[in-house]
Amino acid sequence: MTMRGLMQDRPLTVPTLLSRAETSFGHKRVITGGTSDTVATWADVAPRVRRLAHALDALGVPPGACVGTFAWNSQRHVELYLGIPSSGRVLHTVNHRLHGEQITFIVNDAADEVLFVDRTILPVVWPLVASFGSVRHVVVMDDGGDMPIPDDPRILDYEELLGDQTDRPIATDVRDENTAASLCYTSGTTGNPKGVLYSHRSVVLHSLLLLGADVFALSEQDVVAPIVPMFHVNAWGLPYAAMQCGADLVLPGPATSAEELVSLLARHRVTFTAAVATVWRDMVPSLRGHDLSSMRHIACGGGAVDDALSRRYEEAIGIPLTNAWGMTETSPVVTTSRLGTQHRDLAGEARRLLLGSPGPAVPLTEIRVVSDDGAEQPRDGTSPGELQVAGATIASGYFGADPGTDSFTADGWLRTGDVATIDQWGYLRIVDRTKDLVKSGGEWISSVQLENAIMADPRVKEAAVIGIVDPRWGERPVACVVPTAGATLTPEDVREHLRDRVASWWIPERIELMSEIPKTATGKWSKQALRQQFVGAQPEPSRE
Ligand code: ADP
Repeated sequence: MTMRGLMQDRPLTVPTLLSRAETSFGHKRVITGGTSDTVATWADVAPRVRRLAHALDALGVPPGACVGTFAWNSQRHVELYLGIPSSGRVLHTVNHRLHGEQITFIVNDAADEVLFVDRTILPVVWPLVASFGSVRHVVVMDDGGDMPIPDDPRILDYEELLGDQTDRPIATDVRDENTAASLCYTSGTTGNPKGVLYSHRSVVLHSLLLLGADVFALSEQDVVAPIVPMFHVNAWGLPYAAMQCGADLVLPGPATSAEELVSLLARHRVTFTAAVATVWRDMVPSLRGHDLSSMRHIACGGGAVDDALSRRYEEAIGIPLTNAWGMTETSPVVTTSRLGTQHRDLAGEARRLLLGSPGPAVPLTEIRVVSDDGAEQPRDGTSPGELQVAGATIASGYFGADPGTDSFTADGWLRTGDVATIDQWGYLRIVDRTKDLVKSGGEWISSVQLENAIMADPRVKEAAVIGIVDPRWGERPVACVVPTAGATLTPEDVREHLRDRVASWWIPERIELMSEIPKTATGKWSKQALRQQFVGAQPEPSRE
């Protein structure tokens, strides 16, 4: 017979984050940028969260219903992050940069009852409202947008809703930590978006693991600026982590141009910030004009770090970019880059390259790499296979119309669709996404490695590589290259640069110079759009 432990069985829930922020860190700040900065403390935010919960009661939104948000990173969005789950509803953050059809699919799949929309985003949302089957109210949050508020009975004003309520305890008590807290859809680059439904427990565990000294080492002394949007996998969990540790939170609001972002980071002496590579690349020209000496950690996640970019940061502000691997299904952080004791002697480029690779798994998560025949690959850093992940912060299935059962193994691990290796110290390296690998003459070319080799040339701003069908080789890589402003660059220059950097058969015959690489709704390169542009109606190459 097993003996049970005698510890308190208290649920891990979002309301515990609210209460911690209010009681332990009531004086710490939530700052929102925009035309002017709005500064509030957790002591200001908490009563507004409770009034929001009562407003949802007054609107008759039942427990378990989904409430959608179309909002920038802002204090009000933080209030929704707390008030919706703390009152037993499900926070559904929607990426307004998706196509209208995808937004309609997502809102209807989640059956959102109420939408909270920043006024600057209303021009995207309002024309779609007729296609939303379940939405009863659209609550407008005035962030300075200029779209006239439609004269429609469904429209409500956020501040009026809160003003109608008094500050009193939230009526619903979330007792079961496995209750759904929030919902985020994958971007649906292959097929319809799929819903990932986080529980209160997974949200709290993920917020804790981000604090780890070998993860992001977040503490009360930090000033944390999530630039990654709050509609992209909960801004990688950073708002909840800031509540957990009492860090100040700095949010850009609708002011998201590169110059505005760098100015925000400098103005508020930010110590930790996170975004995808596109954002860091756009900011490079603004770095020199601002004092970023307070910064201790810049996380570049959601894709590979290109070393040329990281070097620019090291030169301009003294720290290279770090990397993290994750996906919507994984809350998202599964690995973060770090130097281990075995890397003590690394310096210069080698150190930067290590910090720019995904790194080992964070606590509570497990990673493995599996070959086509289902066998786990050795941890030798050279045996690639499909990356699979498991843990208390990893999805066990999908919400909504598409159950995506193929994405899970018989023993319950998530199949990521990434090709990776793991080394003897557990450090992960991503070779490519399965669908982005280029198979030429029976051998694989990693689009990620080829892109990074091309971007090592200072004349190149961005490079994306796709495979196109080739009668002789099966597939050949095509490089889409954006020159740096003012640089002169020919396809032959790119080939010349690659000559001593990659195997000769990796060098693309076809190099397309362009002014911009199309981006996905989450700011990554849209290889699907590039394939359509160059390949037209050609079928996707078979991966068998
Ligand atoms: P999407 O990119 O489809 O919007 P996610 O935001 O969930 O979806 O991205 C997950 C994918 O992003 C991963 O499967 C992987 O291909 C890629 N990715 C995330 N982090 C990294 C990283 N550090 N290095 C390389 N690829 C990464």
